[in-house]
Amino acid sequence: MVGLTLLEPDISQGPLELVPRMKSQGYARACVEQRRRWLEQKTGCRLVHVGAHSIAGDEMRGNIENPLGAVQVPLGVAGPLRINGINAQGVFYVPLATTEGALVRSYERGMVALTRAGGVTTRIYLDENRVSPVFLFDSVGEAYDFAQSLPGKLESIRAEAESTTRHGKLLRLECHAIGREVIVNFCYFTGDAQGMNMIVKATEQVCKWVMDHTEARRFYVFSGFSSEKRASGSLLAGGKGKTVTAGALLPKETVKSYLHVTPAELAEMWRHTMLGHLQANAIGYNGHIANGLAAIFIACGQDVANVVNSAVGITNFEVDGDGNLYASVTLPSLTVATVGGGTGLGTSRECLEVLGCVGSGQATKFAEIIAATLLAGELSMGAALASGEFVAAHETYGRNRPIGMYVDGSR
Ligand code: NAP
Repeated sequence: MVGLTLLEPDISQGPLELVPRMKSQGYARACVEQRRRWLEQKTGCRLVHVGAHSIAGDEMRGNIENPLGAVQVPLGVAGPLRINGINAQGVFYVPLATTEGALVRSYERGMVALTRAGGVTTRIYLDENRVSPVFLFDSVGEAYDFAQSLPGKLESIRAEAESTTRHGKLLRLECHAIGREVIVNFCYFTGDAQGMNMIVKATEQVCKWVMDHTEARRFYVFSGFSSEKRASGSLLAGGKGKTVTAGALLPKETVKSYLHVTPAELAEMWRHTMLGHLQANAIGYNGHIANGLAAIFIACGQDVANVVNSAVGITNFEVDGDGNLYASVTLPSLTVATVGGGTGLGTSRECLEVLGCVGSGQATKFAEIIAATLLAGELSMGAALASGEFVAAHETYGRNRPIGMYVDGSR
């Protein structure tokens, strides 16, 4: 490896061979193709599948730079899933994009059990997103005065923020002082958009106003406090996206016949895994919320990195006095959109259409469908672990056994 490194050209000197720039950033079909050919030539790879895409280059503007094609992820569907929400009501079939065998079948099993039990109740408690800039001062005294007085300026600050957006609404602000710095949480309603572009722009406008009207000597628009795309304990309190709950009462007969366990066996297994979560210092407590989230996010054009904050959630299994099961998931910080970001791209839009969640007025419905879907996944995985069927299910549905991968030649 050392020899290889020495033979590499010294890239700290001389011109670098950059990816070719084309007119108007090169979103025309010919530019996308030309870029792909350039990379094929440079690397000796053939990008046949990458090149076989149906999203027009122009549609990618605003979503990616230097486009050369699109990747394809297998898409499956799980359902039927009955949801008795405020915004999502009826029976749904949920598109899931994944390469993890057994995932779709597992979610489907949970959905069938939930639907047979009468469906999933879903509710949204909080609907907002936040940006948390930090303001710097010369002393703790100045920082204190700023933190005390800023909430009183909310109306002026709101006017600044909302001058940059038609849909974003500044709901409130919260000051958190650390020594002579003050982090301010600006909390917004973002309509049907995930909202980060929207509210960062609005917040920057506010920060400039704050610089002109207070003692702050400088600001950084990101302090790290907001937990955008980073897991943190603060996410459990909500405020980074929608706070959604989903729950269902499942008769013990339904649990046994569709999930092959008793409610007591499932709850007992869950109680034991709580110790492991504690030992791991986990944030939240769930089986595999990230799995369903990632599959829906990829299918429906969400910002997949938001799985990190959205997956901080809590799953609970309880046995009631009649021996039936109450299962629930709580997602404190689910960031989803039906407008903006990647939601308008060909396959994303089609998958949102399958759910009846395209465009304005649909984000809360989409959030409830996601929460109900994740409950199905938690139920099915929990049951598979409690019944001892987990490995067998993956052996049946989730193995590829590539030839040549094993030294003894076995598949
Ligand atoms: P966007 O695609 O940049 O903008 C969406 C815009 O749609 C909104 O600003 C809004 O315009 C308009 N809109 C139309 N109908 C709407 C409706 N019913 N509800 C809400 N808005 C509506 O998307 P975004 O949601 O602001 O930002 C999401 C993207 O930001 C993601 O793709 C993510 O990758 C990226 N991101 C950005 C940052 C950052 O720091 N900038 C950080 C992380 C992620 P008006 O504002 O005029 O109302």
